[in-house]
Amino acid sequence: MTFPAFSQIYSSNSQQDKIYRATSTKINDLVNTKLEVSFDYSKSWMFGKAMLTLHPHFYPTDSLNLDAKGMNIKEVAMIKDGKHIPLKYLYDSLNLHITLDKTYKGGENYTIFIDYISIPANIRSKGSMAITGAKGLYFINPLGEDKNKPIQIWTQGETESNSVWVPTIDKPNQKTTDEISITIPDKYKTLSNGLLVSQKSHNDGTRTDTWKMDLPHAPYLMMMAIGEYSIIKDSYKGKEVSYYVEKEYAPVARQIFGLTPEMIGFYSRITGVDYPWQKYSQIVARDYVSGAMENTTATLHGEFVQLDARQLIDGNSAEEVIAHELFHQWFGDYVTTESWSNITLNESFADLSETLWAEYKHGKDAGDEHNYQGVQSYLFSGGAKKDLVRFYYNDREEMFDLISYQKGGRILNMLRNYVGDSAFFKSLNRYLTLKKFGSAEAQDLRLAFEDITGQDLNWYWNQWYYGSGHPKLDISYNYDPDKKTAKVFIKQTQADKVFRCPIAIDLYQGGEKKRYKVWLENQADTFAFPSGSKPDLINVDGDKILLCEKADHKTLDNYIFQYKNAGLYVDRREAIDFAAKIQSEDQNAMALLKTALKDRYKGLRIYTIQKLNIRDDSVKKAVEPILADLAKNDPVSTVRASAIQTLGKYKKDAYKELFLKAVNDSSYSVAGYALNALAAIDTSEALKRATTLSEQHTKGILADAISNILFSYADEKDFNILAARFENLSSGNGRYRILQPFGTFLKRVKDKANFTKGIDMIVKLRDSLPTTIRQQFANYINEMILKNIVTFKQSVGLNDQADYVKSKLPV
Ligand SMILES: [Zn+2]
Repeated sequence: MTFPAFSQIYSSNSQQDKIYRATSTKINDLVNTKLEVSFDYSKSWMFGKAMLTLHPHFYPTDSLNLDAKGMNIKEVAMIKDGKHIPLKYLYDSLNLHITLDKTYKGGENYTIFIDYISIPANIRSKGSMAITGAKGLYFINPLGEDKNKPIQIWTQGETESNSVWVPTIDKPNQKTTDEISITIPDKYKTLSNGLLVSQKSHNDGTRTDTWKMDLPHAPYLMMMAIGEYSIIKDSYKGKEVSYYVEKEYAPVARQIFGLTPEMIGFYSRITGVDYPWQKYSQIVARDYVSGAMENTTATLHGEFVQLDARQLIDGNSAEEVIAHELFHQWFGDYVTTESWSNITLNESFADLSETLWAEYKHGKDAGDEHNYQGVQSYLFSGGAKKDLVRFYYNDREEMFDLISYQKGGRILNMLRNYVGDSAFFKSLNRYLTLKKFGSAEAQDLRLAFEDITGQDLNWYWNQWYYGSGHPKLDISYNYDPDKKTAKVFIKQTQADKVFRCPIAIDLYQGGEKKRYKVWLENQADTFAFPSGSKPDLINVDGDKILLCEKADHKTLDNYIFQYKNAGLYVDRREAIDFAAKIQSEDQNAMALLKTALKDRYKGLRIYTIQKLNIRDDSVKKAVEPILADLAKNDPVSTVRASAIQTLGKYKKDAYKELFLKAVNDSSYSVAGYALNALAAIDTSEALKRATTLSEQHTKGILADAISNILFSYADEKDFNILAARFENLSSGNGRYRILQPFGTFLKRVKDKANFTKGIDMIVKLRDSLPTTIRQQFANYINEMILKNIVTFKQSVGLNDQADYVKSKLPV
């Protein structure tokens, strides 16, 4: 699963933290799940008939406990020779406890039948940072009341929410094959796990699609999605690879998802396990509660992946999540974590896969950038006290955090560096092969690595999987010209423990680089190396792979040398960081930044632009010609956009022509920043352009810029056009960004009727926010938008308008 960027880290101190979260005991095992479902759209109900085949795991038993959340249970029976033998059961709205007709032996199959209604509205559990709901089954716009939204039904299982729509043992250490027959109105397409084995039309405008998954997978990976979709088909070695998108995205579906077959090939090659499932489909869902979910053979994405052709010019922001969910088909789906405590077994690999794919497809700099961002996210998370594998937690949903994902991904990448690529991928193959169609815990991964490398790796697992934190290094240097010895002093300054880390130290001297492999294992380590003269650079952690924080006492000369000669993404980035701090006072630092503005990697060109302090006149003057050149000529649109954004701050008429031209660029970011830059030098021209552009469909930075300019400068006689724009944008993600400018516009509106209408629109938005964000966001609207308008209207003597706004504020 991937989660959206606004997620935060939980902090919990409850008593629940003290409960040991054991792996779920297997009393009965799922074997097969057969479902027949149909829907009542008017009630948001699902009618289900389930035939579950199970057997006792080992010990004999005469009872079965199923997860079945918020259901209306109509019948529970044993199926014997085609007949239903009624069974006694107890149901408490979460668990269905069934007394079987006799005691069954370990491995002895039996099949039970359950007739039920799923009523997701009965579910009130709160979800997690990764998932903002836990209803399992979602009806989107079921009555078709919202004309701007398609009618859809989709499911979300992880962590234990599929038991809202299918009675099951909703634990990750279970596996089941399944067959799901879905009856829906004819106009809809369906998607589920495995293959579509039959489609039967009925005479009443409905159809039944049957999907069969004949390989076992975990219950949380079962899925259904239903709606009006265009299906675009690719293939991988004869298996279907398909993309289900809303009709208007059919022309760009291949641009968004088209790398999938190549990714499948890449992941098959590196793991040595050819894609293990029958097909691979990806579908886009409206109002999805997470980022994306790796349901077996049927990944479901949030609507953010539906990028239009102009967004795609700035790069395919969906590529990372496509890679992530796909790798889960191996790590998560083929081999599944046996418990939520071990969720990093799923998520660290999916996270690592983003790095691996970026490195393979876009080069080492792109892979390193992704890895570096993962390090930063983890450090920023404040999660240094949490173990990667955690047996104590308040809520299982908390396990889906920056530790399990980003830290876990970095720990794997360090391991890859330590054992080497070949051993790393062979170990993954061993793990996947030994545990296929089963479940695993972190120790299984260790054993696979020990098998392949022949090394004891307990120390690595104890330190990184069952321990918390990371080293904080203080690194200093000394050269003794008499003894011709260079020394490196590395102190570990974290409080509680000392880390054991194999690292490479690269010594650059006299045009040569020598690599020394050493171990950090004490609170203070000193390493001495022969060096005929003072080294140009000693580069600790030469592969820039160690998960750590560091205070590295290098000089500017060291960093300039590092930028040019060590040369990895992080080497260059560290040099840029150091130079940026002294850019105003040091010519050489400025010279380094000028070089970095033309770095070979686009990400570092943008990073350097963002680091420029152009409020300083000397900096401003020094970089202007380079910025102008980048704005005009850089081949990458996002670099041009970034240069234009900064050039806009110069407010120079000389660039008007450049901005006017760039406003029509096909990239939203170039056009958007150019429009803002234009507004800073010629408001009326910018307004004219924004008005014309507002008639087109735009997204992203350009759409924001248009709104900003219209709301900031348009005349109140255009109220209807602007109000319509607000109404349109406020139905989607744009609402957060346009409130402030729309408020600014309303300050200028003197017409009482229009003003009232505008305020009502803001109030309506405030009062219709989803409950999860209502409190926080309503406060923002009241305090930052509405009260601001009150103050302004009072100051210009429009007291009746001020009073109207006040009447809409809480007393
Ligand atoms: Zn994931």
